[in-house]
Amino acid sequence: MAEATRSEALFARALAVVPGGVNSPVRAFGSVGGHPYFVARGAGARVWDADGRELLDYVQSYGASLLGHAHPAVVEAVRRAATLGTTFGAPTEGEVLLAEAICARVDGCEQVRLVSSGTEATMSAVRVARGFTGRSRVVTFAGCYHGHSDALLATAGSGVATLGLAGSAGVPPGAVADTVVAPYNVVPELDDRVACVLVEPVAANMGLVPPEPGFLAGLRAACDAVGALLVFDEVITGFRLGLGGATAWSGIRPDLWCFGKVIGGGLPVGAFGGRRDVLAVLAPDGPVYQAGTLSGNPLATAAGLAVLGTVDDDAYGDLAGRVARLAAGLEAALVEVVRSAGEGVDVHVPRVGPLFGLAFVPAGSGPVRDVEGAHAAAATGVYARLFRALLRRGVAVAPGPYEVAFPSMAHTDADLDRTVTVAAEALTEALAHPEP
Ligand SMILES: *Cc1c(COP(=O)(O)O)cnc(C)c1O
Repeated sequence: MAEATRSEALFARALAVVPGGVNSPVRAFGSVGGHPYFVARGAGARVWDADGRELLDYVQSYGASLLGHAHPAVVEAVRRAATLGTTFGAPTEGEVLLAEAICARVDGCEQVRLVSSGTEATMSAVRVARGFTGRSRVVTFAGCYHGHSDALLATAGSGVATLGLAGSAGVPPGAVADTVVAPYNVVPELDDRVACVLVEPVAANMGLVPPEPGFLAGLRAACDAVGALLVFDEVITGFRLGLGGATAWSGIRPDLWCFGKVIGGGLPVGAFGGRRDVLAVLAPDGPVYQAGTLSGNPLATAAGLAVLGTVDDDAYGDLAGRVARLAAGLEAALVEVVRSAGEGVDVHVPRVGPLFGLAFVPAGSGPVRDVEGAHAAAATGVYARLFRALLRRGVAVAPGPYEVAFPSMAHTDADLDRTVTVAAEALTEALAHPEP
């Protein structure tokens, strides 16, 4: 038997002291098979695992890394901030600068409060919406993911869906009693019990599922009709689709926004923001409590500011254009492979801005538009087989069919071209030699 790799050895040790060996479930490779690679370092579009193997990385911390790993501007900002002290429990200039940077770029977002994760951002936004409206109900959409707070684990999202669970054990019925889960891409009926509608304006936790024409506008109108707030969970799309996120992309303005991932430059940050009159309910001025020891952390604000200070409209436009070519190239190549293999699936490579997905759906079923479609695509099992064949060739996509790909601004044209070639080879092998 082959000697264990360092990743295998580390995973074995992790299994002894960390539940499941990982600190976030999808990292355990449960839905794709095999064992996780442990990352030793990253630079730009690449990571190197604990065995020194180089991987072209499309995970990019599930979107937290926009510029690519260890971007010099981010490294320098964090280094400088660290020498000045890492946390004080008193306000710092960095918090003001990051809040100004966000509000200046997102049309209609007048104020933000910083937190330490996307989970906190959505949880707090819901509390604000309930406090502002005096209502309890929250409407969410199946297949959207809003972090792991109890009330929002009524949706079957990324990690949860990957594990094949409808919700989570440990969430009491009372915690989700006011959470309504509706199908994505269908405007639900609302009434005056609804505090807010919480949605991923471009769904990116059931593969990539764009909103159909009229869906977001329909939500806006439905909320207005009953006095409910519209909350965009832009933890992925914020500062990813462009400086104005999904709000600028769609032209639909919510009342509250949730951010995370990109705005932390790879450090733990989230933020929720919105209309000034709505956020006035927050403590210390209002009755809605929310707090955080490390909220607005100096390292995190420095990293986030470094990212926002580095990118402009041109950079986003360039990335989206290059990813559009990548997605078209991938779809053409993979469709051809599937056709020659006579496999009973269709390939779709949905793309919105610089995000793309890889969906292998049952033949004839069309692009994925909701969580049922996402489950059907996952069930074909082709993504998992392709994942392993790609990894053997040094290309890392997310270890689960419900995730999307996050090309960074550090991915070169050569990287993207190679990805198309390698993906076609990998899929050919994966279909020719089905593994158990
Ligand atoms: C990742 C994610 C979250 C949760 O963010 P964490 O930082 O992992 O807590 C919330 N909403 C969406 C849309 C996400 O993709």
